[in-house]
Amino acid sequence: MRIPAKINLYLKVTAKRPDGYHEIRSLFLPLDDIADELTLRDGDDGLELAVAGLPVSNAEDNLVCRAARRYAERAGIAPHWRFTLTKHIPVAAGMGGGSADAAAALRLLQERYSALADEELHELAVGLGADVPFFLNPRTGFASGIGERFTPLDGPVRTPPLLIVNPRFPVSARWAYTHLDPARIGDDDSGRAEALAAGLIAGDPAAVARSVHNDLAAALYRKFPLLTLLREFLIRHGALQVEITGSGPTLYAVCPSPDVRDRLREELEAAWPAALLLLSA
Ligand code: ATP
Repeated sequence: MRIPAKINLYLKVTAKRPDGYHEIRSLFLPLDDIADELTLRDGDDGLELAVAGLPVSNAEDNLVCRAARRYAERAGIAPHWRFTLTKHIPVAAGMGGGSADAAAALRLLQERYSALADEELHELAVGLGADVPFFLNPRTGFASGIGERFTPLDGPVRTPPLLIVNPRFPVSARWAYTHLDPARIGDDDSGRAEALAAGLIAGDPAAVARSVHNDLAAALYRKFPLLTLLREFLIRHGALQVEITGSGPTLYAVCPSPDVRDRLREELEAAWPAALLLLSA
């Protein structure tokens, strides 16, 4: 099963709850060209995970294993499963890779056993992480609450040409939220989110570029000057807009055409050889 990465073209932190969780409003865009692959086959007793592609733990703490254990417990099935994960989504990058893999494990097991009702599967997904329910059925739309409520956009989306720039160092979501300036927290009445949705449906890269936003970005630019350098480079070389996805540190460049995106990719490769993981979408 292929399961896509996501980027957040919009992320507003609307409230901090007394229990420490942040409430958000965020536009999730699945990227079909950037995906992990997970397969399942039967094996001897227990759970095994083989990992290929980008390095990530293959032990119990991998979200594939955690998801499969929870499914087994809830469904009352003794695991006898061998998973193979081919990792293409950068890790701890703001692209939802771990959540995608957890959802893929739940979906593969549900396809095989149909042991849980839809609501039970959703509940299991929320328990694994706020972004996991999104990946049970990845569509473009707005997440709210702590990320677990989802409203798809009202119309098909035409994704603008995007260059994804991952600087090959990890940032934990916890770090990004801890360093968020509390003064930013609150509602947004600018109309940006609605303009962004309209731009995506119209297939208008310039309208998308004008409306992207991320409340978590300022702290990341302050902490990692490389991100500002990359952003400036991308804009100087033809990107319409550049922003950080989710809790970072990955940047996405919104481009006016696939040609500009491909040229930008070549220029970036030449300027920072081997330092960056570049993906086109
Ligand atoms: P998000 O955008 O949902 O905040 P992220 O893209 O920033 O997430 P992930 O790639 O999901 O981050 O990884 C977060 C942490 O989860 C990493 O520290 C990683 O070690 C751990 N992890 C466990 N399982 C996986 C997996 N299958 N793929 C990636 N990371 C995993």
